[in-house]
Amino acid sequence: MTTSHDDNAPIALVTGANRGLGRAVARRLGEAGATVLIGGRDTAGAEAAAESLRATGLKAWPMTLDVTVDADVVAAAERVEREYGRLDVLVNNAGILPEATAPDLERPLDLARFRTTFETNLFGVVSVTQAMLPLLRRSSAGRIVNVSTTMGSLTDQLDPRSPYFGLVLPAYQGSKAALNALTIALSKSLADTSILVNSVCPGWVQTDLGGPDNRAAAPTPADEASRIVADLALLGADGASGTFVDAAGPVAW
Ligand code: NAP
Repeated sequence: MTTSHDDNAPIALVTGANRGLGRAVARRLGEAGATVLIGGRDTAGAEAAAESLRATGLKAWPMTLDVTVDADVVAAAERVEREYGRLDVLVNNAGILPEATAPDLERPLDLARFRTTFETNLFGVVSVTQAMLPLLRRSSAGRIVNVSTTMGSLTDQLDPRSPYFGLVLPAYQGSKAALNALTIALSKSLADTSILVNSVCPGWVQTDLGGPDNRAAAPTPADEASRIVADLALLGADGASGTFVDAAGPVAW
């Protein structure tokens, strides 16, 4: 597919942007003037999402990208290099919650489920970020946003006042706690660059993540939840790095 863009517009890649929060983030970034690459493991789904955004006048192009498939990650980085020569924004949004359909108390410490969850929520982020880092280094204002959750906060998991206190989802919670540690590590490694790295909790969002009932139970529409994610993706030069925030401000690690 032939893509076009304004050389001065930010180039953004959102993983898992074919639906849910990622798609809403992609729309916001497009509305802010970015050329947005719609990452999706299903090519047709990514194409459909990109096409619907283009139909509203935005610059959105599909990118086949299963974050757990090395060949996809390599091909994605090669394409960004070939077509744009740099990357300004990476939103590591793709995520899974297999425990939602079978809580851990029913299948305690299911190793296969830990591996599956970490493969996408942590190793996929490491893989995509590693591949894109040389391109982000070429940006004058590189931004990495890791989509995490308050459920990954160790402080929150230990707080009896938290609405999530009763939730025991160790693979998901552990994967997001590890993702937060990655945010801290990367922000230190990249401290002498213009790349800012942050973790964000979008809130409890009306998507399919938590299973069929989540959409009706969650209070926050994806469009609203995407605002804080896009804000971090478009932080100014004086923006913070190595933080964990939600729409209300800092979240305890
Ligand atoms: P969702 O509607 O289930 O969407 C998840 C997205 O991730 C889909 O596009 C899915 O693609 C993609 N994905 C899954 N595995 C992938 C892989 N291996 N490679 C590439 N893409 C993959 O969930 P969501 O609520 O939008 O979740 C987005 C992010 O927000 C996740 O990281 C999640 O942990 C986080 N989050 C969500 C909530 C919430 O309340 N919903 C709260 C806090 C944090 P397919 O269509 O191919 O499955």
